[in-house]
Amino acid sequence: MNGENMDVCWNQLQPGEDAAADRVDVHIEVLVKSESTVRRAEVRTHVLALLDRHSVIMGSYKWTEFDDEFLAKNVESVAVVDVDVHAPLDLKMNNLCVHIFSLNEDGPSTLNLEEEEELSAANHWLLPAAEFHGIWESLIYDEGIKTQLLDYVSTAVFFSDKNVNSNLVTWNRVVLLYGPPGTGKTSLCQALAQKLSIRMSGRYACGQFVEINSHSLFSKWFSESGKLVTKMFQKIQELIDDKEALVFVLIDEVESLTAARNASQAGTEPSDAIRVVNSVLTQLDQIKRYPNVVILTTSNVTEKIDLAFVDRADIKQYIGPPSANAIFNIYLSCLEELMKRQIIYPRQQLLNLEDLHTVGYIESEVTELSLHLQRIAKKSVGLSGRTLRKIPFLAHALYAKTSVLTLESFLDAMDKAVDQQKKEREKLANCV
Ligand code: ADP
Repeated sequence: MNGENMDVCWNQLQPGEDAAADRVDVHIEVLVKSESTVRRAEVRTHVLALLDRHSVIMGSYKWTEFDDEFLAKNVESVAVVDVDVHAPLDLKMNNLCVHIFSLNEDGPSTLNLEEEEELSAANHWLLPAAEFHGIWESLIYDEGIKTQLLDYVSTAVFFSDKNVNSNLVTWNRVVLLYGPPGTGKTSLCQALAQKLSIRMSGRYACGQFVEINSHSLFSKWFSESGKLVTKMFQKIQELIDDKEALVFVLIDEVESLTAARNASQAGTEPSDAIRVVNSVLTQLDQIKRYPNVVILTTSNVTEKIDLAFVDRADIKQYIGPPSANAIFNIYLSCLEELMKRQIIYPRQQLLNLEDLHTVGYIESEVTELSLHLQRIAKKSVGLSGRTLRKIPFLAHALYAKTSVLTLESFLDAMDKAVDQQKKEREKLANCV
């Protein structure tokens, strides 16, 4: 193992060096305790020794307890992440990319533009942020969606960093995630930025995340003119001017900008709304030229997103409601948490989908509860990720007869909670 080239994967292959045919980049995220002041090089040495001792792993893997005293004292976790293969993975035969980071515990600060009024045009985090930790893992989609998105954006940032002429090879760093509400688009943007700031930590000293509140741009204060937009982008520009910072700008629910523009064109909205929108678009065009900027946008509209935005985004990804399999895994993570907190007690083993497949989905004492969960997952199809994550809470609040439940009773309660949610949805749909 070459310890010097471990921080960023693309540095691993030196010019003139032959790429081993079937090597892949394996990413290892090392979370250093926030109070620790040890040098990264030292952490890396200990992590490489740990990996050397456990060289073959199955899929993603995380260590949180260590025999090594140094790691136990300074490191929270070592995780082999985003491994899509299910076959055994020999770490010695692949490129190890070790990313060492600690979390910024500070919550968001607001980018206030008017001193006398507490106007929050945007929230601002320093990455990697404690608040965003774990979001990536908690979002469950069909296989490939998250890693593909991550690969797209990593390549875009990498190409920019390498100064690839975009007139010759076309790409940009504008991402649009679109789909129904509650499918995790905003969270995915936060997680993506967090992930990239960790992956790129060998190249950029810090990550900045600015979330523009597009609703507030049209609030009563902002309707007066586009000047405040200019001020906000000036603040963002200050962040971009630091070449050592990778800056992510999130514009959530981008359709509210374009809706305002359309309303303005139809004469139902004052013309300064159009000024605000145009100002945002112009400013975005300005900042997207900088190689250290990634623009993330989301839209709840699945058709008819304003062309002005679609054209600006190179990376467009539809994010839909989870499939039955993804729902099963979302529920599994909820139940795991409730067992950990002893709200479901005693702890019982649930089989994952692969195990169920292996036993041919045949009902037995071992598979009974897992198959029940699978039936609940199947009938939950159509509910948004946001609703799904609430189902266990609703199950407990509405249908639990005792505060601590067995897994079997909890599944019965979840079953009822799903029926209730679906009824609510039907009622709502009939009202519209
Ligand atoms: P959107 O921006 O699409 O409206 P959010 O990012 O606000 O959605 O999602 C709200 C919450 O719903 C997330 O924080 C997450 O807890 C949950 N959620 C949504 N989709 C998923 C998913 N596919 N897997 C797991 N949780 C999800």
